Amino acid sequence: MTSDAIVVGGGVGGLVAARRLALEGFAVTLFEQSEVLGGQVARQRISGVDLDAAAESFATRGGAVAALLDELGLANDIVTPSPSPAWLHRGDGSAVPLPATGLLGIPGDPLAPDVVRAIGREAAERAARDAELPARTGTDASSLGELVRVRMGDAVVEGLLAPVVRGVHSMSPDDLPVERAHPRLRAEVLEQGSLAAAVRALRAASPAGSAVAGIRGGMFRLVDALADECRRLGVEIELGTPVEEVSADGVIVGGRRRGGVVVRAAAPPADDGRRLTLVTLVVDAPGLHDAPRGTGLLVAPDAPGVAARALTHLTAKWQWVADALPGRHAVRLSYDGVPDDAVATATRDAGILLGTPIEEVLDATEYTWARGASASTGDLPAVGEAAAGTGLASIVPHAERTARELSNSRRIRPARGAGERMEG
Ligand SMILES: Cc1cc2nc3c(=O)[nH]c(=O)nc-3n(C[C@H](O)[C@H](O)[C@H](O)COP(=O)(O)OP(=O)(O)OC[C@H]3O[C@@H](n4cnc5c(N)ncnc54)[C@H](O)[C@@H]3O)c2cc1C
Repeated sequence: MTSDAIVVGGGVGGLVAARRLALEGFAVTLFEQSEVLGGQVARQRISGVDLDAAAESFATRGGAVAALLDELGLANDIVTPSPSPAWLHRGDGSAVPLPATGLLGIPGDPLAPDVVRAIGREAAERAARDAELPARTGTDASSLGELVRVRMGDAVVEGLLAPVVRGVHSMSPDDLPVERAHPRLRAEVLEQGSLAAAVRALRAASPAGSAVAGIRGGMFRLVDALADECRRLGVEIELGTPVEEVSADGVIVGGRRRGGVVVRAAAPPADDGRRLTLVTLVVDAPGLHDAPRGTGLLVAPDAPGVAARALTHLTAKWQWVADALPGRHAVRLSYDGVPDDAVATATRDAGILLGTPIEEVLDATEYTWARGASASTGDLPAVGEAAAGTGLASIVPHAERTARELSNSRRIRPARGAGERMEG
C-alpha cells in the first residue's frame, strides 16, 4: 500500500508536519509506536483532573505556536502564567526571589539589591568588575559556565547560573554551549562591551509580555486539536505501530513494506541515558494559599537535603489549575534520573522548598522521560527535536517549514493528483 507521505512518530513535530502535508493535498499516513499521540506533550490524570505530564507551556518567541493555536481554534484559550517571580533555593538552604533583570540567572545589574541579596555583596562586587574587563575577555569560552565564570566570578555561576541552567536545560552550565544558551550572547558581549550590558541588551530586545504561555486546560489540548484536524483532513493515523526500518521511499512496519516519501519525526533518545523524573503531588496544605515561593523554585546543585532540581507550584502559576483544584494545591518536582521512593522524596522536598510541611498528599503521579534526542536524522526530511532543537517554539515552525519545502519539492508527488488537493 502506498501513501504520498509517511510520517514516523506522532509527537507535535510529526503531527504538525502531517497536518501541513495533508493541507497541501497529499495522502499522509502517520505511524506512532505507542497507543497515544503527543509524545512529550502528554496528559496525566490526578485527583480527577487532567494536567500536563511533561511540557506545560511554550515560548512565545517567533509567534509560531500561537499562530498554530489560532488556526486550530484555540487562540482564546492561550493563557499566561502568574507574573510572580520564581525563587532560588540556595546552597545554604535559604530561599530568595530570583533577581529580576537576569538572563538564565546572569545578572543584567550585578549590584541590584536582589542580586546582592542572592549572592552577597562581595560576590556582587566581583560580578560588577565585568564592566571593567576588555570586551573580548571570556568570549572564546567553550561553555556558558566558562564565559560567566571568567567575567563575573564563581559565585554568580554557582549561586545564580547553575540552578537556572539545571532547571531549564537539565545540565551544568559548564556543559552548555554559549550559542545554545542564547545565539547572540557572545556577539552582544563584544558589541556592548560587557556581559551585564549584553544581558540588558538582549532583555530589551525581547518583546514585551510574557516569554511563555500555556493553554487553558493543558498543553495536551494542542495534540488533541492537531489529531482531530489530521483525521478530518484524511490523515491515516496508525497507533501502536512502531516503524521498524526507514528508507527514502518507504518504511517497514509489522514486517511489511509501506511506500511513500518518509518524514522522520521520531529521533531515538541520545545514548547518554539522561532521564528526568517529574513527580506531581496534589496536597491539602493551607500554608501554600499565599504562594510562599511564587510560582516555584530552582534549586542550587549543592542545596543540602533536597534531591529535586526544581519545583513548580502549579496552582500558583496557572489560574486554570487553581480553578480545577479548589482549596487544594498541585506542585510538580523535577529530578535528574529516577529518585528512590519518588513520592516520599518529593513530599519531603516540597516541604523543605516551600517552607511549610506537607501533611496530606491527596494524590500523586510519577513520570520518567528520556532527555536529549540524538542529533542524527540521516538524509531524510526530519522534523521534531532532533532536527529543530528542544521545545515547541522551535519544533512547530521548523515542522511547518520542512513540510512546505517538501510539498514544493519534486521529491513528493501526490498520488491523487494536484487537481484533487484539499483546500486548507
Ligand atoms: C518533562 C518535560 C517537560 C517539557 N517542558 C516543555 C515546555 O514546558 N515547553 C516546551 O516547549 N517544551 C517542553 N519540553 C520539550 C518538548 O515537549 C519536546 O521538545 C517536544 O514535545 C518534542 O516533540 P517531538 O515531536 O520532537 O518528539 P516526541 O514528543 O518525543 O515524539 C516522538 C514520537 O515518536 C514516537 N516514536 C518513536 N520511535 C518511533 C518509531 N520507531 N515508530 C513510530 N513512532 C515512534 C514516540 O512514541 C513519540 O510519540 C518538555 C519535555 C519534557 C520531557
